[in-house]
Amino acid sequence: MTSDLVTHDLVIPDLVYPDLLYMNSQTAYLGLGSNLGDRASYLLQAVQGLLDHRLPVRALSPLYETDPVGYLDQPSFLNMVLAIDGNGWDPWRLLAVCQAIESSLGRRRSIPQGPRTIDLDLLFFGQQVIAESREGVDLVLPHPRLAVRPFVLIPLCDLAPAFLHPVLGKTVAQLLAAVSPQTPSPPTVRRYDPGAGQVRPGCQEPLFHQQN
Ligand code: AMP
Repeated sequence: MTSDLVTHDLVIPDLVYPDLLYMNSQTAYLGLGSNLGDRASYLLQAVQGLLDHRLPVRALSPLYETDPVGYLDQPSFLNMVLAIDGNGWDPWRLLAVCQAIESSLGRRRSIPQGPRTIDLDLLFFGQQVIAESREGVDLVLPHPRLAVRPFVLIPLCDLAPAFLHPVLGKTVAQLLAAVSPQTPSPPTVRRYDPGAGQVRPGCQEPLFHQQN
């Protein structure tokens, strides 16, 4: 069972309005996921890792809880997306930092699509289109599976609904609409609600509403 205690203090300088970010041609978007141990803490440690590498993190999506897809016999995931000002960076350096953070947080690649302490995927780097291998490392941009993954598109849509996919020619909001079920069904991606039913002091409303 996961505990999801947040044990990490995170200080992010210069958070900005997400809507402004996709007007910057150098904005990069990363997708993060964790389904082992203290999932929220792993996500926060990954964000701290990016900051420690001097990457300017500029916006964070809310957290979502996601039923596993593909390999089903594993715990549910916590997912989020974040935006980085990629000025002065390139996608390969950013991928190397992501992989270093995955290693430092104990990521093991045993089962494809299987359980992991942390996963960092490079979703977009501005409008750059790449499909290349350098010194044994593959990089495909935009991320090849982002358009079929609601757990990526939902938090991405929180930050950048009008961001244009440079290959598919559709916005993130249009891609999300295309994967949304036509008939009502139980949501497989839900706003993460660690304090369900709790009321913040001074607030009448629960911390989060479930998104259906
Ligand atoms: P995964 O096991 O899903 O984290 O996939 C990691 C592998 O995908 C690594 O070998 C990466 O070099 C490769 N890869 C290719 N494109 C990307 C991308 N856009 N973001 C992250 N990993 C990528």
